[in-house]
Amino acid sequence: MKLAMIGFGQAGGKIVDKFVGYDAEHGSNIVRAAVAVNTAKADLMGLDNIPEDQRVLIGQSRVKGHGVGADNELGAEIAEEDMDEVQGAIDSIPVHEVDAFLVVAGLGGGTGSGGAPVISKHLKRIYTEPVYGLGILPGSDEGGIYTLNAARSFQTFVREVDNLMVFDNDAWRKTGESVQGGYDQINEEIVQRFGLLFGAGEVEQGGEVAESVVDSSEIINTLSGGGVSTVGYASEEVENASGGNGGLLSRLTGGEEEDELDTAHTTNRITSLVRKAALGRLTLPCEIEGAERALLVMAGPPKYLNRKGIERGRKWLEEQTGSMEVRGGDYPVPSANFVASVILLSGVNNVPRIKELQQVAIEAQENIEDIQEESEENLDELVNDDDDELESLF
Ligand code: GDP
Repeated sequence: MKLAMIGFGQAGGKIVDKFVGYDAEHGSNIVRAAVAVNTAKADLMGLDNIPEDQRVLIGQSRVKGHGVGADNELGAEIAEEDMDEVQGAIDSIPVHEVDAFLVVAGLGGGTGSGGAPVISKHLKRIYTEPVYGLGILPGSDEGGIYTLNAARSFQTFVREVDNLMVFDNDAWRKTGESVQGGYDQINEEIVQRFGLLFGAGEVEQGGEVAESVVDSSEIINTLSGGGVSTVGYASEEVENASGGNGGLLSRLTGGEEEDELDTAHTTNRITSLVRKAALGRLTLPCEIEGAERALLVMAGPPKYLNRKGIERGRKWLEEQTGSMEVRGGDYPVPSANFVASVILLSGVNNVPRIKELQQVAIEAQENIEDIQEESEENLDELVNDDDDELESLF
């Protein structure tokens, strides 16, 4: 699936930048164009892979390249005001060659949190291609303002995109790690999962392509209908000494019995990976029961993929989610030394983490209002003399 990616803010820019690197390394052909937008000049300069002319600094007249702090209302305002500059970069994208837009942002900050919903609304108005979001939720230790920003941005972002895929930093942070080192690892995880998912729709036809290979339209259909999505992933290392020759060696050396054993083993591996992916850590932890649609992608060397395994995995997912719309297929990666299962669960509704985020956000909002009120009173008390005997100058 070919995407035009737009990274808004620091996290958004870094993640899109990593996608570009992943794409070049794996030849997955998913990033047709990449744009980074920010109010902070230093963040744009820190990127490695996005071409310089595709890095857009907005809000210069208002914040002089220093960012918006964590003020997402200002982030949204600036995005609105400087949309022409963003559109200038988008104009150079051959939109007829992309299947969809993907807007990526951390929802807890200012620029991405405010700007991502604004750019999504704009893209949806102008183009017919679907506009998807990838929103990153802050860790719960980041504090009230980040939680409040994320809760408000999430609500708006979901409304403005065709589907919002969510990654929750809170579920992925490891204790005892530097924030930066932690993010690097988390960003790898994000790019790996979504790279395999979107790469599935980009396999060249012909050659070793199995009949059940996933197509872009299946990803699009799974995401259509809107709402919130989460992605599960599990992988297992396999030997791939034949370098992708589709088990030629085993066929030459092994008898029929061995082949049958192999088939059973391959099928079991696939079904076990499907369970692990669905029941393990999701990008946004939630109850999978009730997910409206799902897509199962099995990636790996073709000799380790089989129809029976995917069919069983698909059926199991149908039972677990209760959905009638569970798609599944292969993503043959001849050179891989792993078999991986990637599961996209779309239209998830039972997400305790979002409810918790909203609760904490409401408390933070009330606290902020109280503190503001108190601060006005305190200042008044400090500045004015008790009996109001002094007069101010003017
Ligand atoms: P902005 O530049 O104002 O949009 O704000 P940032 O992108 O710097 O931060 C917004 C939120 O994104 C933070 O609260 C973090 O939760 C998260 N974040 C920042 N950098 C990264 C990153 O590199 N990876 C991930 N996964 N999350 C990040």
